[in-house]
Amino acid sequence: MTTHPLSPVTPGSLSLPMAIPFRHRTFPPDDMPTRYAGPVHGHWWARAEEIGFTISGRVRDRYHLALRCETCGHVHASRIYTLMAATPQCPACLVARLEADAEAAGLMHLDRDPDHRHYSWYGAACGHALRRQHEIVRRVARGETELRCETCHAATEAAEAAARGWTLVGSDPQGNPSYRLYAHESGCGGEQRIARANMRTGRFDCATCGCGWAASPSYLYAMKFTLACGREVVKAGYSRDPLSRLIHQLRIDRAMPCRILSMVPIDTGHEAIRLEKSLHARLRRTHPDAIVDPDLYRGQIRVRSEIYDAKLTLLILTLLSDLDRDAPED
Ligand SMILES: [Zn+2]
Ligand SMILES: [Zn+2]
Ligand SMILES: [Zn+2]
Repeated sequence: MTTHPLSPVTPGSLSLPMAIPFRHRTFPPDDMPTRYAGPVHGHWWARAEEIGFTISGRVRDRYHLALRCETCGHVHASRIYTLMAATPQCPACLVARLEADAEAAGLMHLDRDPDHRHYSWYGAACGHALRRQHEIVRRVARGETELRCETCHAATEAAEAAARGWTLVGSDPQGNPSYRLYAHESGCGGEQRIARANMRTGRFDCATCGCGWAASPSYLYAMKFTLACGREVVKAGYSRDPLSRLIHQLRIDRAMPCRILSMVPIDTGHEAIRLEKSLHARLRRTHPDAIVDPDLYRGQIRVRSEIYDAKLTLLILTLLSDLDRDAPED
């Protein structure tokens, strides 16, 4: 067994003994069937010619013929029954097609899966070997679907968790595809189901030791935006990092004028949520007319509510500065 240069960099589920691609095998000697003495009938010749083969002779036993492909010259043994009743395929031409499909999909065809005729092993650009259905690779080549290397993707998810001091243990034991099982590596070591999206943004707490997002400091903020129509609006909310929230999440068009008007530090995320909810409840109750129709900022600010007319700016700033002294009672 030879190891292909693209065979797995990482050991594990994807490590497989990689055979040399079919096209590069010498053929014969090993598979060359033994000659079988017997006549080659004229209707066999005619049928072979009709579908692009010539008959090199009878081989193996009384049921087999050696067929030479007129396209590539490859010789393979075929059952006479298959020749007459079906259309035998040249295995070398088939592999050539698989190699062309793979190349069009940005892959390298390594070898057919000996156990499943619709599957092959492919080398991906990242260096890992992927087992895929031939039709899927053709769909990738046509741009109808994308290919994801499981090994690389797992490494990405593991790195996301490591950046937050957690380790990725595995898939969600409850089977939710959005969740994973993680362990609090840098803390108590406890295991917990966490949505992958929350792991990326850090919006979760460790249920075992209690440390994390809800327990860490946060801010209430006010931001000002000038919409494309020229109208000025104000947004209030909470975030651990208001500037990052503004630049990377809320703002869609980089050219839109926007800025932070105020940031009030709050001890914990839990407290920030509570204060923010009470602030919005108060504004909705006292100034329902100042709530801006979401249709006006859809596609400009990535949020569905909590946007008010700029005439509330002073009131919001006053409420926020009051928070520095005491929380509003609502
Ligand atoms: Zn061929
Ligand atoms: Zn990979
Ligand atoms: Zn913990």
